[in-house]
Amino acid sequence: MNKIEHIGIAVTNLKKSNELFSKLFNKSHYKTEEVKSEGVVTSFFKIGENKIELLEATNKESPIAKFIDKKGEGIHHIAFDVDDIESEVKRLKKEGFKVLSDAPKKGADNKMVVFLHPKSSNGVLIELCQEIKK
Ligand code: ZN
Repeated sequence: MNKIEHIGIAVTNLKKSNELFSKLFNKSHYKTEEVKSEGVVTSFFKIGENKIELLEATNKESPIAKFIDKKGEGIHHIAFDVDDIESEVKRLKKEGFKVLSDAPKKGADNKMVVFLHPKSSNGVLIELCQEIKK
């Protein structure tokens, strides 16, 4: 793993949270993107080397809606940048980590992503992401 790619924060109202985090960071988000397969709309802020992703559910079955029902708003996942997501998934499965999908899926911000089940990583939802090369 190379570095923390971004930290994901679950919010109930993306518009309001974009305003709030704009004030916090003193800059606007640089993109908004819907990921239909996950039932989320996301926005991204870039803070130096780091990124923050805000996620709002677009339907009740969305993992973000379920997360907020259970735990309320807050930090949802930590995403790590990897060079080769398929070999990293293989390695982590061998180490006993549970993955939420075997094959990488298209995520937000031009990434292929796989999530690790929080039960296998001390309650932290981990996202692996590999940049899609154009
Ligand atoms: Zn993410």
